[in-house]
Amino acid sequence: MARIPVVEQDDCIGCEVCTQICPEVFSMNHAIEKSTVHNPQGASAEKIEQAMDSCPAACIYWQE
Ligand code: SF4
Repeated sequence: MARIPVVEQDDCIGCEVCTQICPEVFSMNHAIEKSTVHNPQGASAEKIEQAMDSCPAACIYWQE
């Protein structure tokens, strides 16, 4: 199975950077002001990694 991106909820600071870079995969859960993965395979790995690299809390990671 392909690896999927996961947001570590405890560490997310709700900055919305990942949702702006890769809205196909990440969206805000406004109830808790944190990002969630709504479509793990919605974008290329490259684009997902761009969001990971831009996350100021470094809380997006690959789950095998
Ligand atoms: S970029 Fe990181 S800290 Fe910002 S909303 Fe996304 S997961 Fe949370």
